[in-house]
Amino acid sequence: VKKKGSQYEKQARPVKQAAVLGAGIMGGGIAYQSASKGTPILMKDIKEEAIELGLKEARKLFAKQAERGKLSTGQMAEKLSNIRPTLSYGDFGHVDLVVEAVVENPKVKDAVLTEVEGLVGEETILTSNTSTISITRLAQNLKRPENFCGMHFFNPVHRMPLVEVIRGEKTGDAAVAATVAYARAMGKTPIVVNDCPGFLVNRVLFPYFGGFSQLVEQGADFQRIDKVMEKFGWPMGPAYLLDVVGMDTAVHAGEVMAEGFPERMAGMAGDRGEGKGKSAIQVMFENDRLGQKNAKGFYAYE
Ligand code: NAD
Repeated sequence: VKKKGSQYEKQARPVKQAAVLGAGIMGGGIAYQSASKGTPILMKDIKEEAIELGLKEARKLFAKQAERGKLSTGQMAEKLSNIRPTLSYGDFGHVDLVVEAVVENPKVKDAVLTEVEGLVGEETILTSNTSTISITRLAQNLKRPENFCGMHFFNPVHRMPLVEVIRGEKTGDAAVAATVAYARAMGKTPIVVNDCPGFLVNRVLFPYFGGFSQLVEQGADFQRIDKVMEKFGWPMGPAYLLDVVGMDTAVHAGEVMAEGFPERMAGMAGDRGEGKGKSAIQVMFENDRLGQKNAKGFYAYE
């Protein structure tokens, strides 16, 4: 951890219009949170179904607030109108900050980031919600790496207060300042951290997933582990948390962690390589048990 967020805020350029790339679990959550706190946001995906799902989720969350009497129907409609779904980059010329939240694949992220950089203004801040991929690595192909940093939200976005703001080697203070200020405007608690695979939280979390996976492979009952960790005081156990995260995301992020820290993290959330077997998480992934996103993971969902 390098510096506290507050010292950056004095220099921040305000984010009046944001955009998120990807309308999946995270992109949809980021769009909802931004809209809910009053910053208009474009939500772009390549699939119409993803946009529909992202919007459905946002509507559901706003409706819950209305049920609790926190929003009137009019306010709900107004907040929802802060989310502008799109399949094209049409209005990206006027965006102050972009959050990239597409699949956890460095090649896809590279393609998306270079594409969007060519369309936005010179001062637009680009950020990535990557869980694990180094920000310095993702900045490699960018023309303005000083305008790029990590903005790592946690799942579910509307409930998790923390946002890691990751400073890559070439990230400038203005990018960090704008991202910290935007995170605060979204009602979150930003922390500025140095760059490495997994940043801070996932450096701690992935060995935990790995330990859980090994116990399951040795025959432990996952439900029992969850119950024990809840009694230990965590809000949920590792099996349930993996269902929330998504087994595909965990495996892809696990590969990045294994590459970054081969001795400590190889195969913890993935394939251990020739003759070394597979982690329980990898086996779940290969059996299409992705978690809540397809209603079957360690647990079954309606
Ligand atoms: P997801 O699979 O739910 O959503 C990804 C979305 O990106 C899909 O809707 C897909 O259609 C879209 N997409 C793919 N290519 C695109 C493109 N070129 N342009 C626009 N959209 C495109 O994945 P997710 O769980 O929301 O993860 C997204 C990112 O957030 C990943 O980098 C992941 O590591 C990170 N993240 C995930 C979690 C989590 O718990 N799931 C937590 C923190 C960060």
